[in-house]
Amino acid sequence: NPELVYEKIAYLTFDDGPSENTGNILDILDRYNVKATFFVNGKEGDANEERYRQIVERGHSIGLHSYTHDFGQVYESMESFSQDTERIRTYIQAVTGVDSHIYRFPGGSSTTRTTHMLEYIDYIQSNGFEYYDWNVSSGDAAPVTLTPEEIKENVMNGVTGHNRVIILMHDSAVRDTTVEALPIIIENLFNEGYEILPIVETTTPVHHTVN
Ligand code: ZN
Repeated sequence: NPELVYEKIAYLTFDDGPSENTGNILDILDRYNVKATFFVNGKEGDANEERYRQIVERGHSIGLHSYTHDFGQVYESMESFSQDTERIRTYIQAVTGVDSHIYRFPGGSSTTRTTHMLEYIDYIQSNGFEYYDWNVSSGDAAPVTLTPEEIKENVMNGVTGHNRVIILMHDSAVRDTTVEALPIIIENLFNEGYEILPIVETTTPVHHTVN
């Protein structure tokens, strides 16, 4: 049926920030009037605190991505995991006023850095959080820095055939090409008919298969 209209939704997610590129990412999102989701770590100091506040004040979702992002520490034990989760939750609440219950595991829930992921998932879900993996990766965390064109190609190849995409990107001082790719990614998503939305607590998650 050629008249059938499918709703296409894309969620842009930026992990590991804030960073010296947060402001650049926010400026681009503002230019396109697009709201995204920032899965942040615990970074201290006035400049970082201002970046968390800017994320919230400019209308984006702030999600939790562990305080330390240190795999050995976060996933050391249930006690360690729960303490880290509470630490980032209370820190972000103190800085921004937002009591975020949106979570992304360091490495995603499919990470092989722990054999106890099912227990951590149970902790997250039984404490009122929801966790969000991704079904499209920009590849921008590759050891060799990708060009903006390569990042854009990864995203657009990944979204092809999917009406609902959660796209993984990174907010990092060393990921300038992600920032350079962002406008063309947004324009390509619009051209392909996607609406771009922030993840909120009612957003249906994408979950990886636990290893
Ligand atoms: Zn990360």
